[in-house]
Amino acid sequence: MQRFEEISLSVRNRDAGRCRRCEEAEGDVRLSVHHLVPDSRVPDEYDAHLPVNLVSLCRSCHSELESRSLDAQLRILDLADREELMLSEAERNALNMRLNEVGPDELTVKAISKVESMKFIGQDFTDDDSQRGLSEF
Ligand SMILES: [Zn+2]
Repeated sequence: MQRFEEISLSVRNRDAGRCRRCEEAEGDVRLSVHHLVPDSRVPDEYDAHLPVNLVSLCRSCHSELESRSLDAQLRILDLADREELMLSEAERNALNMRLNEVGPDELTVKAISKVESMKFIGQDFTDDDSQRGLSEF
């Protein structure tokens, strides 16, 4: 999990230590990192732990977004484009240096790259089956 902790730290820094939805600050609330597309729905060749798939949320916003479709989540978060979630080059370089120190694991094997991030957000990862049962916003 150490690798994910490094990524999660970068995501919370990117989000300025605040819940991406209600903007409560870490400390006032406890923040966790949420997968916009659940890990279980992401095929093996993609990395579900890219920062473009992760947002910092407080507990109550997290539970509100958890069961929603991706489109609904993006609307709730007022995110027109997931490119907004892309780390800056400096943030990405700093993260990759830390990931390099940690070494690979089964969870996230790749370095965080802009190309992979663009590829990830270009994919839908949803189909009729996986959408069933998700509430619409
Ligand atoms: Zn919140």
